[in-house]
Amino acid sequence: MPFCAEKVLYNLHSRLAMSILIIYIFPTFCFVFRAERFIFRSIAWNHNMKNKSERPSWDQYFIGLVDEIAKRATCDRGQSGCIIVRDKRILCSGYVGSLPGFPHCDEAGHLMKKIIDDDGTTRQHCLRTIHAEQNAICQAARYGISLEGTTLYCSMEPCRVCTQLIISCGIKKVIAKKKYHAGQESRELLHQAGIELVVLLNETENYDNQS
Ligand SMILES: [Zn+2]
Ligand SMILES: [Zn+2]
Repeated sequence: MPFCAEKVLYNLHSRLAMSILIIYIFPTFCFVFRAERFIFRSIAWNHNMKNKSERPSWDQYFIGLVDEIAKRATCDRGQSGCIIVRDKRILCSGYVGSLPGFPHCDEAGHLMKKIIDDDGTTRQHCLRTIHAEQNAICQAARYGISLEGTTLYCSMEPCRVCTQLIISCGIKKVIAKKKYHAGQESRELLHQAGIELVVLLNETENYDNQS
């Protein structure tokens, strides 16, 4: 009999242990496992979505490159950069700098010239350098690249001389990051030539003695 009682007790313990395992431990394990998989997938999804939402547009991408190129500029007045693009491919680039082999403004100082307009307005320009747009167009000329139908990205709206070159070499669209304080003439010329001008930020580039 005692043997039987022990056996019954043993069976009871085993069943109790099995019940606890089935009722509590197994579902808990499944829940934790599924929750862990769900959390892991959520993190991966959020990471992917975050990466997608952080991906820049083409305009942001090219203007970001223009900002980087502008860091090579050697005249700190209107330090700017430029790239010319066709079918989302970069053809050439340029930044404000002296002629190849000539001293730079940050070595020899600016070469300032005053220009007096018909209405008596005085403007000052540094003549030591050529502009980012001009350097990009010259780079294309050096390597025999046609700029017909291309888009030009630049730090600020182009000056009159750059605008004339842009029109002459067949560029069809200009995307500037900022406004140029004396950009009215260029805007009119571009409009007259049927070239689209887009200014991304409602800001004007300013520097010392600009007018
Ligand atoms: Zn200079
Ligand atoms: Zn210019």
